[in-house]
Amino acid sequence: MKIRVLGAFGAEGLAQRPAAFLVNDRLLLDAGTVGGALSVPEQVNIEHALLSHAHLDHVVGLAFLTETLALTEVRRPLTVASLEPVIHALRTSVFNDVAWPDFSQLPTPDNPVLQFRSLAGESEQRVGDLWVTPVPVSHTVPTSGFILHDGTTGVVFSGDTGPTDALWALAREQRLIRTVILECAFPNRLAALADVARHLTPRLIEREIDKLPPDVPIWIYHVKPQFTDEIGEELSRIGGGRVMLVEQDKTYSV
Ligand SMILES: [Zn+2]
Ligand SMILES: [Zn+2]
Repeated sequence: MKIRVLGAFGAEGLAQRPAAFLVNDRLLLDAGTVGGALSVPEQVNIEHALLSHAHLDHVVGLAFLTETLALTEVRRPLTVASLEPVIHALRTSVFNDVAWPDFSQLPTPDNPVLQFRSLAGESEQRVGDLWVTPVPVSHTVPTSGFILHDGTTGVVFSGDTGPTDALWALAREQRLIRTVILECAFPNRLAALADVARHLTPRLIEREIDKLPPDVPIWIYHVKPQFTDEIGEELSRIGGGRVMLVEQDKTYSV
């Protein structure tokens, strides 16, 4: 499985893009940025977008991607997949003809840019060439983590979450997992904010770590840009070498 990091951060900074990963060139895993990291032909290649939740730092790239697709003559429909409450939020709060045009009806209802697909929670289903299990996690709005695999190797993606259990319990049963992509938003001194915003700090990750699939690397994404150095320093003291900050624009093979 090939994973290209389009955006590694939990917000936008100078050359720091919000969360998005491109899996095997065809599937977006969150969409905090798309056009800022990919050429137009690369964007047109995308067939599926798997979204953890509807917060803007995970979906705003879809706005400009759908517009790019609408202006492209030869294209496939883009399927946006997530749990039903996330799809509902996208329909009513983003692609609602107020914040952005409803590209599930454009350019024509018969040949739209976008189609929505609701996924069943905690069961494995096919999305593109991958097997996907969405699992609700603990954030301020309905949010799903995902267990993904291609039959040979797999990864777990946390989405945005505070301490959580069901995702890790299911992930530990999946023998193909080679990597955990885990969020961390704030440094330890902002633990109170992490608690109300339902995010992780390095200290919370240290407590969470025994619940994760054992012995696999933990890639940290979603650091708020202004805290990158501070969080990096705090993470370097936990996990015995397993924990690393994911590198934006790098393509990983797992
Ligand atoms: Zn976020
Ligand atoms: Zn969020």
